[in-house]
Amino acid sequence: MYISKLFKIPMDDEWKCNYCHWPADFAYVLARTEDEARQLLEDGDAGLCEECIGDLISEEGYIIIKINDGDDISTIAKELLQFAIQSRK
Ligand SMILES: [Zn+2]
Repeated sequence: MYISKLFKIPMDDEWKCNYCHWPADFAYVLARTEDEARQLLEDGDAGLCEECIGDLISEEGYIIIKINDGDDISTIAKELLQFAIQSRK
């Protein structure tokens, strides 16, 4: 299990996607914080174009959770647990 957020980071003209190696204006990085995302990019360990990050998220078992301001911790935990149970059936 890996919990992360998706960060969209503007890149310079030279940058190319780490997977397909096509030039892209933005790097998409899954990380816990923006600092971690930038560090992963700097180290060359992450950074995908919009098409490759779409493939990764849809094909590699990621789920998307939107936490709203009013959501309390127990509701988030309950919903996540229910989702995990349902998606294993
Ligand atoms: Zn790509």
